[in-house]
Amino acid sequence: MNTSTPTHSQWDRDHLWHPYTSTIDPLPTYMVDHADGCIITLSDGTQLIDGMSSWWCVIHGYNNHRLNNAARQQIDKMSHVMFGGLTHEPAVNLGKALLEIAPPNMNNIFYADSGSVAVEVAMKMAVQAAVSRSGSHDKTNFVTPRRGYHGDTWNAMSVCDPVTGMHSAFGSALPIRHFVPSPQSRFDGDWDPADIKPLEQILNKHHDSIAALILEPIVQGAGGMWFYHPEYLRQARALCDRYGVYLIFDEIATGFWRTGRAFACEHAGVYPDIMCVGKGLTGGYMTMAAVLTSAEVADTISRGEAGVMMHGPTFMANPLACAVACESLKILNEYPGGIHGTIQHITQRLKHNLAPASSLDNVDDVRVIGAIGVVQTKKPVNVGEFQKLCVKHGVWIRPFGLNVYIMPPYIISDDQLDTLCNALIDIVRVS
Ligand code: PMP
Repeated sequence: MNTSTPTHSQWDRDHLWHPYTSTIDPLPTYMVDHADGCIITLSDGTQLIDGMSSWWCVIHGYNNHRLNNAARQQIDKMSHVMFGGLTHEPAVNLGKALLEIAPPNMNNIFYADSGSVAVEVAMKMAVQAAVSRSGSHDKTNFVTPRRGYHGDTWNAMSVCDPVTGMHSAFGSALPIRHFVPSPQSRFDGDWDPADIKPLEQILNKHHDSIAALILEPIVQGAGGMWFYHPEYLRQARALCDRYGVYLIFDEIATGFWRTGRAFACEHAGVYPDIMCVGKGLTGGYMTMAAVLTSAEVADTISRGEAGVMMHGPTFMANPLACAVACESLKILNEYPGGIHGTIQHITQRLKHNLAPASSLDNVDDVRVIGAIGVVQTKKPVNVGEFQKLCVKHGVWIRPFGLNVYIMPPYIISDDQLDTLCNALIDIVRVS
């Protein structure tokens, strides 16, 4: 089968970098013609049921007419205008909508261009606020659990897992952070108090030089698709308060109901000082992220030496992205039967459909939370070979390392989800 028109795919292979790909021996890519709902159609007509939501973000499916209309209406007014000295309704409306669903202590919003940039901004905020609050210029470092992932820019890389992340490639070029073991207690298992001890020890010893703890609440995504116990977050919050260290939640992957709650921190009932959102924010239409903070963080920054938050991207609060994001948040409120019920239904079906994978010899673990299903294999999966089989089965799944996982658009039908899960198990069986 042709995966695409040869000229285009060969040009792509020769000139375009894809994520984490070699130019000498690139993994195969498949030419997409269009996508609609949960179906991605390749240029040769092959239809694939999407299991990835294009890396967490296309939560309402592709070619969504409401999001299309929101973009069209906004583009006829203005697609962009600078945010320095100017403002606009889409930015204000999105801010209001975000604060309505965010943890109640969130008060100030900084719009950023992408998830990684949001993490950079959050880390800069933490440093500015920590220095301002303590009066000490030493309070500039970070502590983070291993197996985390926060993006590909410099500071974001520095707090990614030091083994599976970017440290091997960039080593001494990266700032040195404090790492604690990733929490071992499972989300749905018993809490082991030993999980929090290393964090307590590091904070006890180094709090004078630590601005913030940064972590992905409940789901460690690209670092291992691991779901951990909410008690870790409750205890981490208490430790941060005790040692005068800010708490940053990276909800870029977990936000907007992916884990069954509007934000994953709701599973623990604790709030951060600074929170990053992105990915699903625009329903996957364009790149945009936001950093939310408490009034205390915002005002402490403003009382600091600089007197302002030192960041201001060109495309800050891009009106087109804000308008689409507003519509995406409205859609979340209008799922038939409610978004909570929609995600619960997907959870149950994922659990039921993926359960048979646990009896496969090459499978280590099967876990589900919200609209995320993970089959963890005993040996790393060959991505190229796996995806060839996916295309044969008419599904789109992109595994990494030991993780074969699906996180479909919330509009997926029962039949599509069943096909996706059955194909996943069939392919894992022969992988
Ligand atoms: N944080 C988390 C938890 C993520 O999953 C990602 C993206 N995979 C990022 C940050 C970075 O976001 P972006 O790719 O939009 O820069």
